Amino acid sequence: MRALVVLIAFCFFAALAVKFAEPAKQPVRTVAIAKSDSPFLQAEAAAPAQARALLKQAAVLSRPDPAPAPKIQNAEPATIQVPKQPPPPPDSETPCTDLLAEDIAVMQLTSSSSGISGNELCGDEAPARLNGIKLRDGSIVQVTPAVMAKCEMAHEFARWVRDDLAEAARFAGSGLRRIHIDGSYTCRPVNNIKGQRLSEHGKANAVDIGSVTLANGKTFAIFSPEAPGILLASMRASACARFTTVLGPGADEAHRDHIHIDLAQRRGGYKICQWTMPNWPLP
Ligand SMILES: [Zn+2]
Repeated sequence: MRALVVLIAFCFFAALAVKFAEPAKQPVRTVAIAKSDSPFLQAEAAAPAQARALLKQAAVLSRPDPAPAPKIQNAEPATIQVPKQPPPPPDSETPCTDLLAEDIAVMQLTSSSSGISGNELCGDEAPARLNGIKLRDGSIVQVTPAVMAKCEMAHEFARWVRDDLAEAARFAGSGLRRIHIDGSYTCRPVNNIKGQRLSEHGKANAVDIGSVTLANGKTFAIFSPEAPGILLASMRASACARFTTVLGPGADEAHRDHIHIDLAQRRGGYKICQWTMPNWPLP
């Protein structure tokens, strides 16, 4: 009986020990979850352990991607950018710089004017726009409309007007004041005939002259019998000496009312000079 009492007492105190040994509830954790606005945390508090695990996985998957790591710049030392050097000055011996240096032309250098005629490229890299020629006495021979030509052609044309035509006009009794241009740079085939080779006009290498005006105000077409014979004869002789092609009245139908001059390059230096004076018998 005594042993039975001892056993009962042991069981009583053992039960008390187990009860006080249970971990305390965690009301703080419950309050913290209830205050959270996160649906994942709220569901986690109410769900079984397996569901909580799935919710945690979903929460991880739904997190925004971490900010991309900053790209590592090229570890090599930065290359020092050397400013581009300006292009070298143009060759001092070019015809256009000669024109400018000699101060015999009223002109502007232009940018490239190019086009396509058939299969050939027209134009020139930097043609000159020639508005006038300065004579030795300081007067200006106007060129209307302005001649657009490559520098070699513009140079030879200006020298021709100043050194030959102006002198011939002076011998004819009056100064030279204006040259009327029928054409210069034009991207077209020879004589505007389709299928022909590219005209020298398309290379900015030719000028057409229709008439001249003297200081006395008189204007003469180059085919007019009234034009001073000494002037026309001097024009013809000097043009054929300076240029490689001279075509005028009498050459063909296309040149019946103007003269064409150019600096075409031909094999063996071959030149063409076809211009019949008005008082000459036609061939
Ligand atoms: Zn022409």
